[in-house]
Parts: sequence; structure tokens; C-alpha cells
Amino acid sequence: SDNNQLRRDERSKAAFEQAKVVIPGGVNSPVRAFRSVDLTPVYMDRGEGYRVYDIDGNSYIDYVGSWGPLIMGHAHPEVIEAIKRTAEKGTSFGAPTELETRMAELVCERVPSVEVVRMVNSGTEATMSALRLARGYTKRSKILKFEGSYHGHADSLLIKAGSGVATLGLPDSPGVPESVASQTITVPYNDLESVKLAFEKFGEQIACIIVEPIAGNMGVVPPLPGFLEGLREVTEKYGSLLIFDEVMTGFRVHYHCAQGLYGITPDLTCLGKVIGGGLPVGAYGGKRELMELMAPSGPIYQAGTLSGNPLAMAAGFTTLSLLTPDKYEHLERMAVKLQKGFESNTRKHGIPSTINRVGSMVCPFFTDTHVINYETAKTSDLQRFKVYFAAMLNLGVSVAPSQFEGMFVSAVHDEAAIDATIAAHDEALRRL
Ligand code: PMP
Repeated sequence: SDNNQLRRDERSKAAFEQAKVVIPGGVNSPVRAFRSVDLTPVYMDRGEGYRVYDIDGNSYIDYVGSWGPLIMGHAHPEVIEAIKRTAEKGTSFGAPTELETRMAELVCERVPSVEVVRMVNSGTEATMSALRLARGYTKRSKILKFEGSYHGHADSLLIKAGSGVATLGLPDSPGVPESVASQTITVPYNDLESVKLAFEKFGEQIACIIVEPIAGNMGVVPPLPGFLEGLREVTEKYGSLLIFDEVMTGFRVHYHCAQGLYGITPDLTCLGKVIGGGLPVGAYGGKRELMELMAPSGPIYQAGTLSGNPLAMAAGFTTLSLLTPDKYEHLERMAVKLQKGFESNTRKHGIPSTINRVGSMVCPFFTDTHVINYETAKTSDLQRFKVYFAAMLNLGVSVAPSQFEGMFVSAVHDEAAIDATIAAHDEALRRL
């Protein structure tokens, strides 16, 4: 089949050269540069459903989905129509619109812990604002996060971070003042004992724990039974807040987000990705009592020229409206099929493998170690990942260019797409 042809990449190569002249590293977000896989980034031209098309004329079955947002696939006709209809009336007013209220109503209805929600423009803004709220409310300055978790690039959160920071093997980022970094306590994910020890020592100074309820930035790592419950207990005991960073998991793993899936109620929830339907959106919300501490009703400041932007609200509202409970059943079915296919391939080729999955987040690691935290995620054979990644790309499947990211199945991936992906995976492993 044409699957075995090497893809053309002359145009992508030329585009990258031009970009490097005027954009640092050639990209507007580090992981896009394909550095850790030693390849030239693929420049995209368009997407449709589960496929993306690059500027050299190659097409791929896509599992990046813009790193999570495109759960309804690329250029979903209803999402595009909503954006067009809204754009014709103007793109931004800096005055409230009714769309913002409709969007907030929908989020409050679906996310169990959220009574009031504020829209921002990215996941980074959501977590940064939630931290400020937690610190303002508790009048404490320390925070606790987990090694290999990524919560955006705010100073306090860029300590032992996952995602691109892990992919590039960077130490803690320069530019974060020591006085800020010293307020962030990090412990291994899924390690409740370390959390308890940290609280025994610093409990009265800790404003909050911020956690990805399913870690998605060290590859995909599900919470062990009792872990999230334990975080809920320890924060209550010490008067700290529990923040669920559901930027990745929100509306991805369950109709009611990860908190609905596991039945744990955080104090604050951060959202992003899916709620923007491919446009720039983030949000943070929680109990009224907490959220009303934000300006203008309270003294803690946070604002945004483009926050609640009409186009973004239209894309987000339409995407969430399309995500009926049956979509989650389909996502589960497709993702299980993908996982089983991959597992059978790795057995057939005798390649050490662990495949973690929750809902439509799937992550094949090249290790037979049980992956429960960043330490164990790092046992994956990164050299092997590199070869696998390039082979998949050449076979027409686009996955994230890093072992420390998962695959995102969308609601428009069908049996045929999954079968083709499993076949490409089989061939890629044969080439290892
Ligand atoms: N939190 C989590 C869990 C994320 O996965 C990300 C982005 N991958 C962020 C926060 C930051 O979101 P953004 O890139 O929109 O700033």
C-alpha cells in the first residue's frame, strides 16, 4: 500500500528554515520543533475529521488533536459553522456577551465541583489564577505539585515539570526566581506517603496541592487507587485547597471530567483544551465562596482583554454540546481497541511494553516496568521511541513527538482508522 512510501518533506524543511529566521527555535511552542526525535517538524496545511494533511501533500491519521482539544476531530462542520456565524457579528467587544453565560452554565452543569467559573485564554492562565486564588484565600505561600506533572509555564509551576520540559530534558527553568521556586514542594506522583511527610513538615504553610487527576505530561499515568482520596483527606486536614488541573482530562475522559470518573470533589478545577474546541480557552472554577474572592466581587485580581472571546466561546460551547454521553462510549471502545491491538503487536514482536490508558488517553511506553510516576516513565527506551515515532510518521500516523505525551483518540476515529493504526504500529515495530 501507499503506507509504505517514504513521505515527502521538502516543503516542511524549507518552511522550518524560514521560520527559524524570525521565530525562536522556529516554533511558538517548544515541542513542535521535533527536537527530541531529531526530525524536521511537519508543517500542517489542513485537517478534516481524524486526518491531517501537511504542506508536502502527505496525510496522517492524527492522534495529536492539537495536543488534546480536538476531541470532535479537525474542522468539525458544526464547530466551524458556529465560529463563522459568530465571527460575522464581530470578533471581540471587551464587553460581556450572552454566549459567555451559556458557556459558564454548561460548564457548571457538567463539572461536579464547579458552581462558578471564570474564562481565561489558556491552561497556563487557568492554573496561574487558581494558584493565586488558593494563596489569597489561605494566606499561605507554599504549594505542592508532583514531579513530571505539567501545569503550564507560570513561575511557581515550572519546577520539575513534565511535557516539553521533560521531553527536552531541561533542568528547572532559568528565569524563575529562587524566592519563587523555594515555595514549590515537589513529590513523586502516586506517592501519598511523601505527600503526608511534606504536610507534616510544612502543612500550615501549604496553600494547595495542584494535581493532574490523571497525569498526562509524563506520558499517561492513572492515579493509583486511594491516591486522589488521600490528597482530598490531607488537604482537608490541614486547611489547604485541592486543585484538580483538568486542562487535559476535562471533558476528555468522562462526561463529568476526571472528578466525575473518580468521584472526588476538588476545591478548584482548571480547564482548557477541549472546552475551547480548538480556539484559545482556559477556565478555572469552584465553589462560589472561593470564586467570589476574585475581582470584581473580591480583592484578588485577574483579568483578560480577550477572556470569554465570542469565537472561542462559540467553538467551546458547540464542542461541549456535541459531547453527549454516547460519545464517551465510542471513545472508550475505540481506545480499548487501539490498546489491545498495540498490546498484541508488542507481544508478537517481543518488545518490552506497558500501555497505560484512561478513556481516550492512551500511552505506549517502551518498558515492561509498571509506569506509576515520572521515575518509572523514564525507564522507557527513548531511543526506541525515536525510531518508532519516525516509522509511524512515514506510515501515515501522527502521534506526539515525545514519549512523555499520550495519544488522543477522538470521537470521529472509527474502526477503520483504528485498524489502520494498529497495522502501521505492527509495521513500525517490525522496523525497530
Ligand atoms: N495543565 C495541563 C494538565 C496541561 O496538559 C497543559 C498543556 N499541555 C497546561 C496546563 C497548560 O495549558 P496551555 O498550554 O493551554 O497553557
